Amino acid sequence: MKYEKDSIFDQMTAREHERLCFHHDQETGLRAIIAIHSTALGNALGGTRRWYYESEADAIYDVLRLSKGMTYKAAVSGLPMGGAKSVIMMPHRDTPRTEAKARAMGRFVNTFNGAYIAAEDVGVDTEFVDWMALETPHVMGGETVSRGGDPSPWTALGVFHGMRACLLHTGRGDDFSGLTVAIQGVGSVGQNLCKLLNDAGAKLIVADINKKKLDYAVATYGCRVVHDDDIFKTECDILAPCALGGVIDGKMVEHLRCPIVCGAANNILDDPEEDAVALKTAGIVYGTDFVVNSGGLIHLAGMHLGMSDSELQTKNDEIFSTTQQLLQRSENASSTYAAAVEIAKQRIADGLDAVVHACYNRFRNYNRTRFDSR
Ligand code: NAD
Repeated sequence: MKYEKDSIFDQMTAREHERLCFHHDQETGLRAIIAIHSTALGNALGGTRRWYYESEADAIYDVLRLSKGMTYKAAVSGLPMGGAKSVIMMPHRDTPRTEAKARAMGRFVNTFNGAYIAAEDVGVDTEFVDWMALETPHVMGGETVSRGGDPSPWTALGVFHGMRACLLHTGRGDDFSGLTVAIQGVGSVGQNLCKLLNDAGAKLIVADINKKKLDYAVATYGCRVVHDDDIFKTECDILAPCALGGVIDGKMVEHLRCPIVCGAANNILDDPEEDAVALKTAGIVYGTDFVVNSGGLIHLAGMHLGMSDSELQTKNDEIFSTTQQLLQRSENASSTYAAAVEIAKQRIADGLDAVVHACYNRFRNYNRTRFDSR
């Protein structure tokens, strides 16, 4: 993983972060970091990633990038929420997850009094979330102690909507039958995406470093398997990175053999500003990650905010129109990423205006009541 040589404060300043908090739990040895990028629009919901990082600098780099993406994701989805994320640094690649460490993480999350709400990410499942929930009410995505369940089916549905919008934008119609989709990573989101695409008639090519997951995808959806090194060079109609981030950079663009990149992974592009321009220059449509993978956030944050099932479904469906809108705007922007950031920033500004307006009205009504009662 690439890390930054700048000081931590310089990195926070460059990305406009509010808080970066480190925690060590003496009893369990848990080492974790919570990054709050922005609470401008409200409290921030973001997953907890359990991962083996080769250095602390790598973990900091990851959590800063991921949390900033969450601010854009919440804003672009029209949610009154900020952006945050957390990482747990595993001591070894295969360290098993334990209830004790999850509970220690829950206690760390609890110190934020709800400004940060934790959920699933890579390495964290519903059981882990429920263990955290034994220590704090500020989690979503569990099945027994907390609510919401696994968000990945909703994330996959959003990516599917994003793919439809990309297909229409390239003038292909949104019929998947006969199309080939190459997916890197058939974990929680990848498997759900396989199901949706298989049901829609697409042919699937997959790669994963986990053989069990590959075997399941082959047996269940008839996927063809390629080596992980080859998935990005595979000829396909849509390339869907659904593993980790930083998988496409400027140098790789010339090797891609697809007209569309649209997947669930956070931070697909190594340097989003530059690499998104390279994709546009190469004539490849990029369904920006934080727009198309917002289904899981919409589901959990929407439940947290008290939305009904039909409101949640409508909000997920909106990923299609938001992707269409950003692809249209990208015609006059340097890239789809730039267009998506522009939409997110506009929605943050609109949200702040609405908050100021609401405060002003409350203040005015309060004064009127005082005046009238005299
Ligand atoms: P997951 O851990 O269930 O699945 C990830 C899969 O990627 C695993 O099967 C893993 O073996 C595989 N993988 C890891 N490194 C790989 C590599 N180098 N090559 C090939 N395969 C590799 O995670 P997930 O929940 O499915 O999330 C996938 C991605 O989507 C992540 O980037 C996550 O941050 C993002 N995302 C997930 C959600 C969600 O709802 N789960 C929401 C938004 C974004």
